[in-house]
Amino acid sequence: MGHITVLGYRRTGRAVVEHCLRSAVDAFVSEARPLPDAERAALTDLGVDFEDGGHTERCLAACDLLVLSPAVRPDQAIVAEARRRGIPVRSEIELAAERLGETAIVAVTGTNGKTTTVRLLEALFSVCPGPTTIAGNIGTPLIAVLDAAQASERVVVEVSSYQLALSASFRPRVGVLLNIAPDHIDYHGSFAAYAAAKGRLFCRQGEGDCAVVPHALRHVPPPEAGPRVVHLDEQPLPGPWERELAPHNAENLRAAVAACRALEPELDLERIPVDSLRDAISAPHRMEPVGAVDGVHVINDSKATNAASTCAALAGVTSPKVLLLGGRHKIEGYESLADTIPRSAVRHVVLFGEAAPFLDRLLEAAGVTRRTRCETLEKAIVAGLAAARPGDCLLLSPACASFDQFSDYEERGATFVELLRRRGMR
Ligand code: ADP
Repeated sequence: MGHITVLGYRRTGRAVVEHCLRSAVDAFVSEARPLPDAERAALTDLGVDFEDGGHTERCLAACDLLVLSPAVRPDQAIVAEARRRGIPVRSEIELAAERLGETAIVAVTGTNGKTTTVRLLEALFSVCPGPTTIAGNIGTPLIAVLDAAQASERVVVEVSSYQLALSASFRPRVGVLLNIAPDHIDYHGSFAAYAAAKGRLFCRQGEGDCAVVPHALRHVPPPEAGPRVVHLDEQPLPGPWERELAPHNAENLRAAVAACRALEPELDLERIPVDSLRDAISAPHRMEPVGAVDGVHVINDSKATNAASTCAALAGVTSPKVLLLGGRHKIEGYESLADTIPRSAVRHVVLFGEAAPFLDRLLEAAGVTRRTRCETLEKAIVAGLAAARPGDCLLLSPACASFDQFSDYEERGATFVELLRRRGMR
């Protein structure tokens, strides 16, 4: 491969450039935003040619392969032009997977639960022989850990719909599709296109491969291609786990067990340290109990960025709750949330941020009368605490992206916790 152009220069783009430098392949960086001076200087020091503030045809001049970073839209003119010129367009995950040789890849996708399931797989594989590399959206791009991955028995990767939309050659030994619910419609253009991107996880699978899906999605792996299809809902779990876990995490564990058993049929769940499974499902900002104030238990579920994840939160908390909902909404999927709220012991809903008027209309139509509309998360907390009674749960499970008022879900969750600490949360 002579010359790779990397479209988008953030975490994944940087990792691809580093890979090119390690492999003595020429790289060209094209970034839509103006790069900070320090980054321009660093690229110059590395001898990497670049353009910033937009993608021009300069980036295709000597290009043999165009690699798109995850959040770079594939429907841009520059990508169409590359295709017109016959330049292959790939995602980082494909580029990396092609270099893995015989190492088994377990790839996890779905609208919700990817990170949790990858963490569960890490715990399950920890009792199996040989090392496991964990990569992808959960932390480190696969291309950045190729050496470790090549030396591993298996690699577990979290894969997003953005990466799968481009996927033409990616063939995981085990593909896990947890669920599909409306999300990222603005990127994919429609729910159908989003669902189709998720389905591409299985497009290259064949004999000897395994597809793990819920029964409801059993039609997604193409039947003619021939991966063995395992229904994650049919995986038995040990009784105590069944009772302890919220329904969505029981699903994630079933999926992880099925995927692990596809490679390690002898897996004995009794050998898994219970603490490691508990750690796996206790990721920050995901149904995280963060304390109590005046007898009100507080849960930070800032990572709930679509309606389906908030429905899962409502099913997982049985006590009466005050629900904080808002941010930048995802267009679709909210009717099911509006239907779920009246059946979920929700005492009051507080709406905040850009989505507040949209959600307000929706809840009005669904007959959810006990609700308050605020501008900011801070005001939502004040209103939420005023509505809650001792023993209730104050649940931040916003069902929306955070970008209207925060840089990401982590900042939103951290701000939530900090504001509550200032109000005496212990
Ligand atoms: P992802 O990596 O797909 O975003 P996470 O494991 O980070 O998934 O969880 C994101 C949000 O979705 C959290 O609010 C979490 O409680 C919720 N969630 C996790 N697993 C599921 C599931 N199987 N179904 C619905 N919601 C889930």
